[in-house]
Amino acid sequence: MDYIVLDMEWNDTSPKSKNDKGIMLNHEIIQMGAAKMDPRLKITDTFKANIKPRVYEKIREDVTELTGITAGSLSGGRRVYDVMDEFREWCGDDYIFLTWGSEDIPVLKNNLDYFGIDSSWLAFYFNAQAMFNMQTENKGRAFSLEYAMEFCGIKEERKMHDALNDAVCTAKVCAKFDIEESIARCDEYSGTEFGKLDVPMNMRREISFGFGSMREALDRGFAVPVCPECGAEIEDVIWYRVSGEKVIADGYCPKHSDYAVVITHRKLSAANSETVKSTYTIDRINEAYFNFVEDRAEVISREEI
Ligand SMILES: [Zn+2]
Repeated sequence: MDYIVLDMEWNDTSPKSKNDKGIMLNHEIIQMGAAKMDPRLKITDTFKANIKPRVYEKIREDVTELTGITAGSLSGGRRVYDVMDEFREWCGDDYIFLTWGSEDIPVLKNNLDYFGIDSSWLAFYFNAQAMFNMQTENKGRAFSLEYAMEFCGIKEERKMHDALNDAVCTAKVCAKFDIEESIARCDEYSGTEFGKLDVPMNMRREISFGFGSMREALDRGFAVPVCPECGAEIEDVIWYRVSGEKVIADGYCPKHSDYAVVITHRKLSAANSETVKSTYTIDRINEAYFNFVEDRAEVISREEI
């Protein structure tokens, strides 16, 4: 089975066009880039095509600014029908899509539906961005591809926001993952045709609204880093201040595991604050993440919190 790492650039204008079946074209794909990886995560082939727009012929300024694509550069682009035929064939028979973020495959499906092209070949896809996030500190945060590349130590001279370059860079980031493990830990979608990866994290989160400061949350026991398995205080703790509102306690329980405990405290209003304690069981993936964050943070004593 191959992994098809797909990236696309698209354009739209307002109002949006509907076809005669009432299907609205939300964004029109103008460039596709893809890298094919074998099961050992080696890039074996690439695909790139510019597509001549049929619907939104005027390219939005911000799209040109981001991608360098102009109406002129697409004048030699190919018909969407031909590109999709070729891409489908190029994908082969046995593949899973990987995309950075969760938009590409739904946009692709919308384009196929709008233009009346068969979309049954759109197999499962996984969001590589969610894989990257999966055991890192903030599930809701969308890291940029550039950030992930820096994190993974990937140097790249190519221009970003070019579909093929982005696909190749995403593939290089993915090659640093244990993709099979990520996929194995992801339930196969919630019965919907398409869905995005939502990987359970190795993490326990507790929230309290009762403390005026991080100091108070610590003194009153809430923010004390404890083993989620046995409740014992974790040992050999090193405290890191990531920002004024965020610290990490790194330590271990001798009976269980290494842990990183991320504590944030923020004022919601004059009278209300929120303290969040997230306890991560350290594994291979989030260990690299915490090393990265802690290298850039200030080591502090418990008293300084
Ligand atoms: Zn324990």
